[in-house]
Amino acid sequence: MRSFCIGTRLSQTILQNPVTVLRGVGEKMASRLSDIGIRSLEDLLFHFPLRYQDRTQITPIGGLRDHVDAVIDGEVLTAAVTLGRRRTLLIKIEDGTGILTVRLFHFRQAQVSQFKQGAAIQLFGTPRRSGGHIEMIHPEYRLGEGANLVEQALTPVYPTVSGMGQSTWRKLCGQALRLLVANPPEDLLATVTEDAITLSEAIAFLHNPPPGAELNQIHQGLHPAQLRLAREELIAHQLTVQGVRDRERRHTAPVIAGLSPLSEKLLAQLPFSPTAAQERVASELALDMSQQQPMLRLVQGDVGSGKTLVAARAALDTLASGYQVAFMAPTELLAEQHFANLEAWFSPMGLPVAWLSGRTKGKARAATLSELASGDAHIVVGTHALFQQDVQFRRLGLIIVDEQHRFGVHQRLALADKGAAGQHPHQLALTATPIPRSLAMVAYGDLDCSVIDELPPGRQPVMTTLIEHSRRDAVIRRVGVACREGRQAYWVCTAIEENDTLDIEAAEATYKHLCHTLPEASIGLVHGKLKPAEKAAVMERFKQGEIQLLIATTVIEVGMDVPNASLMIIDNAERLGLAQLHQLRGRVGRGAIDSHCLLLFRQPLSETAQQRLSIMQESHDGFVIAEADLAIRGPGELLGTRQTGLAAFRIALLPEHEALLVEAQAVATRLYQHDPARAEALMRRWAGSRADFARV
Ligand code: ADP
Ligand code: MG
Repeated sequence: MRSFCIGTRLSQTILQNPVTVLRGVGEKMASRLSDIGIRSLEDLLFHFPLRYQDRTQITPIGGLRDHVDAVIDGEVLTAAVTLGRRRTLLIKIEDGTGILTVRLFHFRQAQVSQFKQGAAIQLFGTPRRSGGHIEMIHPEYRLGEGANLVEQALTPVYPTVSGMGQSTWRKLCGQALRLLVANPPEDLLATVTEDAITLSEAIAFLHNPPPGAELNQIHQGLHPAQLRLAREELIAHQLTVQGVRDRERRHTAPVIAGLSPLSEKLLAQLPFSPTAAQERVASELALDMSQQQPMLRLVQGDVGSGKTLVAARAALDTLASGYQVAFMAPTELLAEQHFANLEAWFSPMGLPVAWLSGRTKGKARAATLSELASGDAHIVVGTHALFQQDVQFRRLGLIIVDEQHRFGVHQRLALADKGAAGQHPHQLALTATPIPRSLAMVAYGDLDCSVIDELPPGRQPVMTTLIEHSRRDAVIRRVGVACREGRQAYWVCTAIEENDTLDIEAAEATYKHLCHTLPEASIGLVHGKLKPAEKAAVMERFKQGEIQLLIATTVIEVGMDVPNASLMIIDNAERLGLAQLHQLRGRVGRGAIDSHCLLLFRQPLSETAQQRLSIMQESHDGFVIAEADLAIRGPGELLGTRQTGLAAFRIALLPEHEALLVEAQAVATRLYQHDPARAEALMRRWAGSRADFARV
């Protein structure tokens, strides 16, 4: 069902023509473009450069700025192959103002002799300062007199797919831009917002900024052309999100009575009482579920804030009202942990919990499916397997999705169709990834939000220390002492295998090394390549205390709950993002013992790595950390690009455009109600590669 009356297209211009009208676009390229949502000329024009290179001038080596791309003109001083961990061709270049080091990791022997001492050379690349010198890794270069890398205008760099080079994009967009000037598309915001710059001007500017354009301002996303387009894109996004929400809200949902005797019984049997924040969120859920329309609510709460209990109470209320519950987690491991937790709570109350994962096969699977379909199974815990077509429920009343950002909106909604006849179940999403408000509005715009902003009493803050890699042996001795004192520790490595490009201490190598250095400690190894049963067995032995020191990759990031573990070592911590570091650190500090987190890092640290590590040292608050993360990294990386469709923003940037977002929401609401035809046109214009998102 579409929620908009679909008006006639507002703009029927030449720009609606298929891309095949352009020179150089045959069937093959048209299909490649179509795969990323580009079918019409207008689609092509809305495919904007990611960034620009300034090749309009030569920069003296002495004037290079860290991470600012530049063209260099100089001559070769020395060239030599070094044989360290990696074979590297090192070339030193001078231009009278300084010396630049160039590193090539991939090169042919024939290339080496090209770099003769005194040869003229031009380079274009990204300079990086490290220690006292400045270097470029794999720059573009031309050797010989008369080489010319200098260009007349700023060079756009387009997001691309394999098989489409930058020069192809530039040619195609160039053709489309000429048509744009003669046939400007309708300015859909003309009467809605106050922009000094028109849509066509903004588009033309961003594809082809003139020399002298403020590149700094553009790279910060703050040029008026970008603001004009970002405003429109965010309005289109908010319209889409409101549409999704609106469609869902039109269904009826089962009415669930809150504060059921079942959930009272659970509370009575627990050794602790809920925190005030847990109580508040539980009543928000109860109120939502007592309504006749589906609840759409996200519960955010830091690691260890006790989201499971809140979800379990909502589940019990649902069972008490005679409906079924599906509880879903993104990984097998996490699902198993929830299963174990819920079983421990529910079994004593005489409520069996069913299990369904991708590995549930044959008779077991058939039995579970038939119990869910008949309504004999009341609550099921599992993985994505629950989304599958053949999983039918008799009276599904509540869907709980843990770590919601790992699932797409569409997956969650696929379950919404599994409700009882004519009804849609309530939806509860949980996340420990704290999301800044601006981002939540974008990622979860279709959900209401509750926050558990309090940890259960008695939790010890985890002392966090940064330690340079050269002191690794001392760290190992400290781990040995902790093990002898009966404590447990995690040692997290960032990859399983020696990876020559990243130079990571491999978990396997670490395991061998630690077994050798700490012969008296009992040590286990767990990583993503183990079979699930093997993984589960190691985890269980750690939980039981049979393993004291667990060497792991980031597979333990979510869900591990071993209160006796009080020491967390993260190797190569500089390689991980803040959200991941925070999640990992959250594995300790769960018991009464003082806990420590040691972040091992290697020099040289990039500026952002340095920022991340010091934030970890200063803060334990997931929300503070998330805000910092957003500021450092940008939203695409923060949530993972695929899951949210966030990275699919073409122009809009967060947090830079946060203020626009608030305005966009208001405008979207107005258009949605009063001008559905324009709303539809806006959504269609910006849907493109996010077509999937728009279709849900
Ligand atoms: P998360 O929000 O990270 O999913 P969990 O729900 O796994 O946190 O809870 C973490 C631990 O805290 C569990 O062992 C849980 O039983 C315990 N817990 C939950 N609520 C409370 C509380 N109010 N007081 C004490 N411990 C609690
Ligand atoms: Mg949890």
